[in-house]
Amino acid sequence: MKNIATLLLLTLTLTTCAKEAPSRSNNPVSPSVPQAESPQKPKQPASPTIEKPQVEHPPLHPAFSINREDLMMLIRELPQEVQHKIIDSPSAFLADIEHIIPLYRKDPMLFKLIDKKHALPSDYVPQDLTELSAQGIKISKQELYLRKIIIDDLKKMIEDAKKEDNVELIPASCYRSYATQKRIYQWEVDTYGQEQADRESARPGTSQHQSGLAIDFYPIDSKMAQLPTGKWLAENAYRYGFSLSYPEEQEALTGYMYEPWHYRYITPAGTQLEKKYFIYQQYLLEFLDKHMGEILKKYKK
Ligand SMILES: [Zn+2]
Repeated sequence: MKNIATLLLLTLTLTTCAKEAPSRSNNPVSPSVPQAESPQKPKQPASPTIEKPQVEHPPLHPAFSINREDLMMLIRELPQEVQHKIIDSPSAFLADIEHIIPLYRKDPMLFKLIDKKHALPSDYVPQDLTELSAQGIKISKQELYLRKIIIDDLKKMIEDAKKEDNVELIPASCYRSYATQKRIYQWEVDTYGQEQADRESARPGTSQHQSGLAIDFYPIDSKMAQLPTGKWLAENAYRYGFSLSYPEEQEALTGYMYEPWHYRYITPAGTQLEKKYFIYQQYLLEFLDKHMGEILKKYKK
């Protein structure tokens, strides 16, 4: 019931923007002022709970059977700021969601939530790993692998950075197997202790690197954010479908310290959603993880 109260409260806030709106929230049912019985009315026992027919909200977008109330339910757990962005342009939001549907249906791993609470199976290995130098990509050490599906966008990003701004983007760490991550994490624990290890290194199974969709760019260093490469990525990576996974001052949200070198591919349609509505990759991927199944059921194509 708390959800309904929250929803109503939000609806009131959004539709009226009146400061005094919350004071009405303790009476969620429409006021039941007794109405004078009209003479034509067939005689029935007077009932205080005569239901007025609900006003049906029309679908917000022709491709989805999702109306305003449905949408409010879908987004109710998101931060207020994100909810407002979505409610400001709900049909555009659904149009943007529609853009990721063919990608999601074909390859849901592209949007898979992988974090401290959502691990990959220990035997998960992407089937289309490809070695980067064989793809003509300059790397900082030998034998770096990524999923083939992201190579075209990665190459375009590297080329454009060079061409447009003379910035050289060099992948320094890419795919890591479960076993490799296990070794790295154990080394961090042995070296810095459990607590610090968990702030900067993923436990095996919970690393985005195991997906073959994450890249650490050179240099893996906190000063990266001030370097031309770090600045260029922060401004432009989204154009190619790459998203900063662990932003500054978001450790409570992501579970990790700021990593200006670590980007994950979520497709250009995904980074559009992140940029326009969700603010952070984490909010977007959590939302898709929870609600994409339901959204697909309400998608008519
Ligand atoms: Zn990384």
